[in-house]
Amino acid sequence: MSQASRKKVSILVPAYNEQEVLIPLYERLGKLAKDTPNYSFEFLFINDGSRDKTYEIIQRMAGKDSRVAYINLSRNFGKEIAMMAGLDNADGDATVIIDADLQDPPELIPEMLSYWEDGYDDVFAKRSSRTGETWLKKITSKTFYQLLQRSTRIPIQRDTGDFRLLDKRCVLALRQFRESQRYTKGMFSWIGYKKKEILYERDPRAAGETKWNYLKLTDLAIEGIVSFTTAPLRLSSAIGGIVSLVAFIYIFFLVIRALFFSVDIAGYTSTLAVILFLGGVQLLSLGIIGEYIARIFNETKNRPLYFIEEYHASGTHQKKS
Ligand code: UDP
Ligand code: MG
Repeated sequence: MSQASRKKVSILVPAYNEQEVLIPLYERLGKLAKDTPNYSFEFLFINDGSRDKTYEIIQRMAGKDSRVAYINLSRNFGKEIAMMAGLDNADGDATVIIDADLQDPPELIPEMLSYWEDGYDDVFAKRSSRTGETWLKKITSKTFYQLLQRSTRIPIQRDTGDFRLLDKRCVLALRQFRESQRYTKGMFSWIGYKKKEILYERDPRAAGETKWNYLKLTDLAIEGIVSFTTAPLRLSSAIGGIVSLVAFIYIFFLVIRALFFSVDIAGYTSTLAVILFLGGVQLLSLGIIGEYIARIFNETKNRPLYFIEEYHASGTHQKKS
C-alpha cells in the first residue's frame, strides 16, 4: 500500500510526570506500528506541565522519530483538559487515547482498528478485572457508576477508562464540547455513534505513581454527576415535597388532638428534632443548588481551556531513526 493511501492513526498520550514509563511505552508503540504496517501512525504526547524529565524525553524522541508529535501545555491542567488539547490537535482518521503508564496495553490497538474498519466509531476497552486496585476503590467506583446510571437515560459505560479508539467524526464532535469543567467519560456516551466494547485485563501501573487520591476521585465523582445530570436538583425538590407532606399531616394531627382531646402540647425533644432535621435538609438542598451555580459561574467566564507552550507536529524531524 502506498504511503499516501494509508489511513492515519493518532495515538494520544496525556503525560504528567511520567519519565519512568515513556521509553517503554514508546517502544511498545513502535512495535505496534511495525506490526501494523497498513496504517501510518502519529504519537501525540501531551505534556501536562510535568515537573520531571517528561518534556526532555518527549523532545528527544521527537528529534529522532518523525512520527512523534508533542504539545507542551503552559502548566498542569489535569488529564481531562490534556486530553482535550490532544483531541483538538490529533488529525488522524482515527484517534486512540491511551494512558502513559502502560495500564492500557497498546497490543489491544490492532483489535480496535479491526472493529473500526468494520464501521464502529468508538471502540472502547472495558476492564474485565481491576488488578492492583484496593477493594475500597472497587466498591466506591461501583457505587458511583450505579448512582450515575440511575440518574440518566444515557447509557453509562461501566469499568471503562479513557482507553478507546475514536473515529474522526467522534473527535470532531468532542471538539465542540468547550466546557471547562469536563467529565469526558460522560461526553463519550453523550455523543452517541456506533460503539463497540472489547474486554481487557487492566495491568497495574508499570512505574511511577497514580495521580489520583480519594479527594480527587470524590471531586471527579461529584463532577461527573453534576455535569451530567440535574437529577440531584429533582431529588432535593422531591425531599422537600415529602417533608412538607409529612409536616402537613403531622400538623393536622396535632391540631385535631389539641382541639378535641385537649392533650398537652408537649415535646422539647420533638421540636428540636424537627428543627434540626429541616435545617439539615435545607442546607443539603442549598449545597446541591450551589454546585450548579458554581458551574454556571465557571462556565460563564468562558475562558480558554488551556494554553499551549510549544507545539511540535509530527512529520517534522531532524534525523530519522
Ligand atoms: N495525567 C495527566 N495530567 C494529570 C494527571 C494525570 O495528563 O494532571 C495523565 C497521566 O500521565 C496518565 C493518565 O493521565 O497518562 C492517567 O493517570 P493515572 O495513571 O495517574 O490515573 P489512573 O490510571 O490511576 O486512573
Ligand atoms: Mg494509571
